[in-house]
Amino acid sequence: VQDGILRRQAARESAARTYARSLPIVPVRARGLTIEGADGRRYLDCLSGAGALALGHNHPVVLAAIRKVLDSGAPLHVLDLATPVKDAFVTELFRTLPPRLARHARVQFCGPAGTDAVEAAFTLVRAATGRSGLAAFTGAYHGMTTGALAASGGAADVRVTRLPYPQEYRCPFGVGGERGAELAARWAESVLDDPKSGVPLPAGMIVEPVQGEGGVIPAPDAWLRRLREITAARGIPLIADEVQTGVGRTGAFWAVEHSGVTPDVMVLSKAIGGSLPLAVVVYREELDVWQPGAHAGTFRGNQLAMAAGTATLAYVREHRLAERAAVLGEHLLGRLRDFARAVDCVGEVRGRGLMIGLEFVDPEGEPERAPEAGPGDPAAPGAGPRPAAPALAAAVQRECLRRGLIVELGGRHASVVRLLPPLTLSDEQAAAVLDRLTDAIEAVAR
Ligand code: PMP
Repeated sequence: VQDGILRRQAARESAARTYARSLPIVPVRARGLTIEGADGRRYLDCLSGAGALALGHNHPVVLAAIRKVLDSGAPLHVLDLATPVKDAFVTELFRTLPPRLARHARVQFCGPAGTDAVEAAFTLVRAATGRSGLAAFTGAYHGMTTGALAASGGAADVRVTRLPYPQEYRCPFGVGGERGAELAARWAESVLDDPKSGVPLPAGMIVEPVQGEGGVIPAPDAWLRRLREITAARGIPLIADEVQTGVGRTGAFWAVEHSGVTPDVMVLSKAIGGSLPLAVVVYREELDVWQPGAHAGTFRGNQLAMAAGTATLAYVREHRLAERAAVLGEHLLGRLRDFARAVDCVGEVRGRGLMIGLEFVDPEGEPERAPEAGPGDPAAPGAGPRPAAPALAAAVQRECLRRGLIVELGGRHASVVRLLPPLTLSDEQAAAVLDRLTDAIEAVAR
């Protein structure tokens, strides 16, 4: 059965398939952390629907919420009309939002995917400011529609000012730490203020509090606070893309809470739908310049997703799963860092909460030379990190799969093995994940 399905998929579906290429399995059953394939094999799933499954697969409270809607006789398709299901979702969502945003916020339901909400955020800030360009960061990922793709570094007909996203390991200024973050903030300021740069003031600035697809790169809190000052001083709405970081993933309910920054717009999807498609933008009410009908979409009222999402948000809040993710994440990061010290092909282990990445490098490669940071900021002397090793990361992913562990690849060079386990991960499950992952790395590195 499994081979036939995989053969037909490879023959008929686009070569652009991503997850399906690197994970040749045919899931037929799932619960929590575990997926069972058509061949009867079981896997620990640390991909979690690319972060969409805060509670893992088929959590009983999610299934019960979906069944309740199905059994109630309520219409499943209602466009964006008011329903008790939607009312409950919005009430629960606002209960979780950063209080300073929630007090004066509006929510707009968008098309089903994260990229639709990103697009809506762009449309909103462009309407609100009367400006057209956008500012986004190196290594960002915001989705696959034209605007989102442009902001992610893809070629598209949208003017995007690209600003450096600070990072410790491959610091764009070669200095890392607080200094690297400060240089990144100053770079943003000088680009926005320099009349000769030819960059008009953007309509908005979009940032991921932890870059996910970009290779699990947590933004320094101090840098996010500087971005907040820089954008506020210039009347630029700050858009936090919490599609992947939201709903407890990073150890706070929303990742912006780590820094205390209140964005003007938050883009939310993935886990807010409790495994079903749902996407919203939440924003300061002053930005709500949209005229009736200015933002439409057929699939903005998914009742099953809202019910599943309400159950998920409430469960994460009531069971303090963000705190749990923070504690467990620290533990896993610590154990992985200890392990990585003895393995020369892991360049860095990084993450926040249960969003964890291991960057694979070529231990024999020439160390990168740090780039010049600009006048007065010479690059740090000494060797930079070794070259990224995508083939090694892919080999580790395959070896993990062979050992019954599903992990994802990411990063600008696809050299980062990523873990996004459900927030419900038990200590025993965490130990099993660690064992399989470290065994797989040892097997590949040997
Ligand atoms: N923003 C971020 C930060 C994401 O990680 C993703 C998806 N990986 C998106 C936006 C796009 O979401 P979707 O795939 O649902 O369109």
